[in-house]
Amino acid sequence: MQKKYTKELLIQQKEILLKEKKKTVTQIDILKKEDPFSDPEHASDNAAVDTDVREQVGHETVVAQIKDLEKHLDAILQAIVRIDKKTYGQCQKCDSSIPLERLKVVPEASYCIECEKKLRV
Ligand SMILES: [Zn+2]
Repeated sequence: MQKKYTKELLIQQKEILLKEKKKTVTQIDILKKEDPFSDPEHASDNAAVDTDVREQVGHETVVAQIKDLEKHLDAILQAIVRIDKKTYGQCQKCDSSIPLERLKVVPEASYCIECEKKLRV
C-alpha cells in the first residue's frame, strides 16, 4: 500500500523544487557565458597554442558542468510533473514509496535508495 504524502508536504516540496529549478537555470546561464568558446572574439583570435589548450580544457570542464546541471534540472522538472500527477515520492523502478527523510534531502529523487544503489553500480 502506498503511503500518502500530505498535501502540505507536496506544496512544500514543489516550492523547494521550483527554487532549485530557478537556481539551476541561472547556474547553467552563468556557465554558458563563462565558456571561452562562446566568446565571439574567439574565432578570429590568433592566440598562442598554450592559450588554446587552456581554453580547450576550460571548455570541456564547462561543458561537463553544464551537462551535470542539465541532468539535475531534468530530474527537478520530472519531480515537479510527478507532484502534479500525484505520483511524487514513488520509486520509478520498483514503485515503492521513497522515504520522507530521503525526499527532504533529495527532493527530486526518482528512485528509492535500493534502486539508486543498483543504478550506480
Ligand atoms: Zn525502488
